[in-house]
Amino acid sequence: MSQTLSAVKGMNDLLPGEIEIWQHVEGLARELFGRFGYGEIRTPMLEDTALFVRSVGEETDIVGKEMYTFTDKNDRSLSLRPEGTAPAARAYIEHSIVNKEPLTRWFYTGPMFRYERMKTGRYRQFYQIGAEAYGSKEAAQDVEVMDMVAQFLQKLGLQDITLNLNSLGDETCRPAYHAKLVEYLQAHREELCSDCHRRMEKNPLRVLDCKNPTCQAVAAKGPNVLEFLCEPCRAHFDDVQRKLTALDIKFVVNPRMVRGLDYYTRTVFEFIASHPALGTASTVGAGGRYDKLVKSLGGPDVPAVGFACGLDRLVLLLKESQQKFGATPDLFIAVADAGSHDAAFTLASRLRREGLRVDFDTRGGSLKSQMKRSDKSGARFTLVLGELERTSGQAKLKPMAGGEPIPVALDDIARTVRAHSAAPRADAPSAS
Ligand code: ATP
Ligand code: MG
Repeated sequence: MSQTLSAVKGMNDLLPGEIEIWQHVEGLARELFGRFGYGEIRTPMLEDTALFVRSVGEETDIVGKEMYTFTDKNDRSLSLRPEGTAPAARAYIEHSIVNKEPLTRWFYTGPMFRYERMKTGRYRQFYQIGAEAYGSKEAAQDVEVMDMVAQFLQKLGLQDITLNLNSLGDETCRPAYHAKLVEYLQAHREELCSDCHRRMEKNPLRVLDCKNPTCQAVAAKGPNVLEFLCEPCRAHFDDVQRKLTALDIKFVVNPRMVRGLDYYTRTVFEFIASHPALGTASTVGAGGRYDKLVKSLGGPDVPAVGFACGLDRLVLLLKESQQKFGATPDLFIAVADAGSHDAAFTLASRLRREGLRVDFDTRGGSLKSQMKRSDKSGARFTLVLGELERTSGQAKLKPMAGGEPIPVALDDIARTVRAHSAAPRADAPSAS
């Protein structure tokens, strides 16, 4: 007997029943991001490993522990993308976008890969939808991006999500904060884990991101980055807060939030949900400004700001909501006798061509079993086709939610169904 194969650990199949929620989320994002003027990009799932090492940072968990890296047949080191910002920046540089337009707004969606410890809301292949805006250093750009996430979450009908906000300063003011942080961490060296000992030397900010509770307790009492901001960074941060308030977007300032990637400057933010369905995987979207990233990858000196939302976590939250997703058939065609099967099959094809969603059981079977199937499908109407209907050219549309059957000519079905479809079927999932 051959061994049953299953999906790779941490990687999920998305099937009908659930996929409708994904389509709803993606469709809503596409529409909303389009309103903000963001155009879609699609970059390859594989990139040179160096791209992520140089941008995300060697000392981050993502690059240090979580990347799927391998050498190809030509001995190149490639990695499955763990995030979307670095590939987008690479594409932005490679296609000399800065020479074509001064301000660029892009969004992307697709799978990302990280070799993580799995639990609810944390997978090895997961999906992000994210956006990047290149070319504006203004606080308005930061806030536009946060506004887009806030409107997205609101349109999804998600509540109890808090926007956490911080500023990490820039190359002018961060060194002083770094020095103070290192001094503080040295004084608490004994309490920190061995990973953090290394981080302290190589990239002390990463200690604040350590998941170890003892390290977190030390980090919580460390120096406050906001007290170190230089005048321009402070002004930018104040402006961001003012503009958020003007848009009525609620936020809390969280000076311990550093984010898990190295490329951020100034604004960083996270949208954190408090729903128990997510457990500790509660951040549904996160991002910030990365004014030096494009240049550090060999591109022009272009400021940028962006975010990524975790679709898996949004879908988990939507599954908990009472909302219904996906469209159901307009019509189920049932066959009364075996002699009508071919005619019903042809009728189904014609009505689909005319734009109806039609369900039809190609196996035939008893009328009773077909009616059961029709009910389960959530179809709005059932039409029974038998010899009588075929010879008279007349049939009846049975409203599955109850009510009187509607007489219909066989060549007028699509119009009649549409005419009677204004009100949604009360007991069926609504098309959304
Ligand atoms: P976390 O602190 O939860 O590990 P992160 O800081 O590593 O998140 P980002 O790199 O900022 O996450 O990614 C943006 C969003 O993508 C996260 O807020 C989350 O919603 C989602 N995400 C990140 N990693 C995973 C994962 N392994 N599985 C599912 N979603 C994820
Ligand atoms: Mg992570």
